[in-house]
Amino acid sequence: MVDIDIKQSPFAGSPVVPELFDGSKEFSFRCHKGIKCFNACCSNIDISLTPYDIIRLKNRLNMKSDEFLLQYSFPFEMEQGGIAGVKFKPVEGGTACQFMEEEGCSVYEDRPTACRYYPIGLVSRRKQDEYFDTSAYAVVREPHCLGHNEDRPITIDEYRKEQGLEEYDKHGHGWRQLVLKKKSTGPAVGKPSKRSLQLFFMACYDIDRFRIFINSDGFKQSFDVSEEEYTTLNADDVALLEFSYRFLKQTLFAEETIPFREGALEARVNRTEKTLQELQTEQQKLKDDPDFEPVDIA
Ligand code: SF4
Ligand code: SF4
Repeated sequence: MVDIDIKQSPFAGSPVVPELFDGSKEFSFRCHKGIKCFNACCSNIDISLTPYDIIRLKNRLNMKSDEFLLQYSFPFEMEQGGIAGVKFKPVEGGTACQFMEEEGCSVYEDRPTACRYYPIGLVSRRKQDEYFDTSAYAVVREPHCLGHNEDRPITIDEYRKEQGLEEYDKHGHGWRQLVLKKKSTGPAVGKPSKRSLQLFFMACYDIDRFRIFINSDGFKQSFDVSEEEYTTLNADDVALLEFSYRFLKQTLFAEETIPFREGALEARVNRTEKTLQELQTEQQKLKDDPDFEPVDIA
């Protein structure tokens, strides 16, 4: 199965027909249990997961996000030194999806975005000087997939609707925007700190841990979030996911999307100044110590 990601050159080394379409493009395709290649695509997977995919699956399996990530996924670098993505971990020692059964997909109603899109590839693009991204589609033709030989004309928009993708795209959009923005700004805004990369991973993929984070004293002292909003965020994973996108815009790109609590910034500056003063005092004490010998570490 091919997952077309939001890379700048999505066609490098892939079997994707190098032509992009809008949603009105018609193609002919049908996948069904009686087809000869049934399950072929799920036997050899390379599937990236969106944050919304993880929420759907971990809730279906009644798991916490960290348990799901450990059992069913592995992280990968979307770009060198950059932000992380998450892919499905296949069965131990094999290439098949852990959810593939003889009868088909055991999590069909909650299958991920990439599985729903196949054999269509979503290509999201964003130019450096534009704020919003645009979507285009490609038709993936892999030799093992016989669904293309079926006589069932359908437009890409109809296919997206049939596969329940409108909801998946709606809740994956904030994440795509963050990834595209990070890629298009590139080194111009400097390499993200290790802490901001960790925050990105937690806020996007480990949503239950992110919930603990936003309920911490440190977060509550810094951000002005109403009690009413907390009630929603604590009860609703999808609302929390949309909030996490706002939080990451603020953390990664300094866009103020969640108001700071009055005095929070000053308190932070004061804390930093206090730490600096303490360091300087310690340094002076060392210098004043007659037994102190500086060590040349060059
Ligand atoms: S989640 Fe379902 S549809 Fe997707 S690869 Fe696994 S078995 Fe196939
Ligand atoms: S028709 Fe294509 S998508 Fe359907 S089972 Fe066969 S290989 Fe998979």
